[in-house]
Amino acid sequence: MQHKVSREHLVYAMSRDNPPALQVRPGSTVVFETCDCFEDQIRTADTPFAALDWSRINPATGPVFVEGAEPGDTLVVEIRDIRLAEQAVMMTAPNLGVIGKQLSHSEIEIVPIKNGKARLFDRVELPLNPMIGVIGTAPAGEPIACGVPDQHGGNMDCKIITVGTTLYLPVQVTGALLALGDLHAAMGDGEVSVCGLEIQGEVEVQLSLIKGQPWPLPLARTAAHLYTIASAVQLDDAADMAAANMVNLLVRHSDLSQAQAVSLLSVGGNLQICQVVDPQKTCRYELPLSVLAQLNIHF
Ligand code: CA
Ligand code: CA
Repeated sequence: MQHKVSREHLVYAMSRDNPPALQVRPGSTVVFETCDCFEDQIRTADTPFAALDWSRINPATGPVFVEGAEPGDTLVVEIRDIRLAEQAVMMTAPNLGVIGKQLSHSEIEIVPIKNGKARLFDRVELPLNPMIGVIGTAPAGEPIACGVPDQHGGNMDCKIITVGTTLYLPVQVTGALLALGDLHAAMGDGEVSVCGLEIQGEVEVQLSLIKGQPWPLPLARTAAHLYTIASAVQLDDAADMAAANMVNLLVRHSDLSQAQAVSLLSVGGNLQICQVVDPQKTCRYELPLSVLAQLNIHF
């Protein structure tokens, strides 16, 4: 049976205290209707910045309570489909993103999405790579704002979190309390302006559980690769953590030594940047599943 959570069920922080919008059994398929990261407040390029309600930034839809999920388990989120609205919004503003200090005023760009392409500035066509910016479970402790990525997931802005990917998140409270939002019709690694092509849409996922947490989380699997994902205030630390998590996975699940695992990472995979503009930065380490299979690690 397919379940749906409407975009009336919004949260602005991942929290154990958020009342569930929906309760489902493991194996269920759930459709989340999502607002864009501005909660759909910007429909035209002349929307005045001063008119925006900044307390409504980065809403996530949910949370969904998964029956049987207990702290210490792993929530498995298979992303089946991402359906996008017909226009996206971008903005630049002083003090936001990598050259924010050089920007003197804010600008809004409305970007039509048509025939699988985005059209910027009325002349540059880009292919779409629809992805989920914010996706996470509730932390055990204090609530974490939806704009912040951390071990629970959250605002990872990781472009491989897309259709066909399976995401593994930690369960830290009973029911897991999964929420997601902040879709991007396209985004490049780094998200340097602080924005992707921000867009309203729907996400279809299938949810299941693994008892225990056998892997360092968050973790993502695509058709060809496995990714460890890590976030930290400093990009250097996020990079170290993402790679260290993959080393730990290899040491725990194969007979490689720590030194061999590091050597393998140094030549067999890629350390990549997800985003450098959120309150914590996010990196991922990418290793081919074919390499893991040779070590008898199968996903
Ligand atoms: Ca984001
Ligand atoms: Ca975003």
